[in-house]
Amino acid sequence: MELLTSNCPKCGSVYRKNVRNLCPSCTAKLDAELSLCLDLLWKYPSCSTEELIQHSNINKSVIIQFIKEGKLPKSYRNLTYPCECCGASIRYNRLCSSCSVTFKEAAVQLSPKFVLTPGTGFMMNRI
Ligand SMILES: [Zn+2]
Ligand SMILES: [Zn+2]
Repeated sequence: MELLTSNCPKCGSVYRKNVRNLCPSCTAKLDAELSLCLDLLWKYPSCSTEELIQHSNINKSVIIQFIKEGKLPKSYRNLTYPCECCGASIRYNRLCSSCSVTFKEAAVQLSPKFVLTPGTGFMMNRI
């Protein structure tokens, strides 16, 4: 019988494939980091992302991942992460509101046939 093994993307060690795609030690570390974040937020609900990074000593990318995955509740108002385009602080989606408008306009310009082809039923949603 063949065991499904893989290299952990975080630490590189060989592990048996699982749903989280991380080796058991990295999974345990991530869980510990998440509970530390939640503990700190419980004590300091108005803590910003930067403050959370400083207090927890957890890698910024890990914390931003937690926020994006919704593991840190959106009810903590100061938890922001950078817009993937301009770096502005945002709390929802991947782009800030001004970048998502720019992105939509660019997408429309790049694919005019998509808009102009008659009979496709394509409609533009203007905000
Ligand atoms: Zn690992
Ligand atoms: Zn932006």
